[in-house]
Amino acid sequence: MMLPVAVALVHHPVVDRRGDLVTTAVTNLDLHDIARAGRTFGVARFFVITPVPAQRLLVDRILEHWRHGFGAAYNADRAEALALMETAGTLEEAMARWEKECGGEPLPVLTGAAVKNGISFARCRTLGLERPLFLIFGTGWGLAPELFKKGWTALDPVRGKGMYNHLSVRSAAAIIFDRLLGDGET
Ligand code: SAM
Repeated sequence: MMLPVAVALVHHPVVDRRGDLVTTAVTNLDLHDIARAGRTFGVARFFVITPVPAQRLLVDRILEHWRHGFGAAYNADRAEALALMETAGTLEEAMARWEKECGGEPLPVLTGAAVKNGISFARCRTLGLERPLFLIFGTGWGLAPELFKKGWTALDPVRGKGMYNHLSVRSAAAIIFDRLLGDGET
């Protein structure tokens, strides 16, 4: 049985189209879509990572609306998905909270279309039996290179046909959730 899985959507450190280190703004659509996909596949916690206090406040306001405000009554299903979500200033802060909550040392798993020498989805599923996975998704043009220098596990990219590979983070997350957590029905 897979141990509980957490997901992080990173707004810093990520890169822009030039490869420069940037901090991206939180996109409401990312929050809703990844929360809904996460809830569908049994993700236990969804951390929205941004070092910008005003951005964390924005996310907390969105959560308030859907947890206790009009949204909670208007769409209980959406409220249930967003209940997974919480903000954190850094990946390290989120992982420390996740470790405390799930009682095991999280296994950080980086993702990206350009990942080289990643682990297979099957291998990642096996690792998830021993340690609580902490799946890390980026925004902008992807996670910053510094994250890939930490010695953390990286997952093979989702590959389509041919060279074109520009999935949105929402699409990539949903596909990865299905491959790691889905029931594999064909
Ligand atoms: N080419 C960029 C990249 O590095 O993935 C696309 C950036 S996309 C807006 C941001 C995030 O979506 C990436 O950091 C990664 O988490 C996810 N992502 C996008 N395409 C992916 C793929 N083919 N395989 C795995 N993750 C992907």
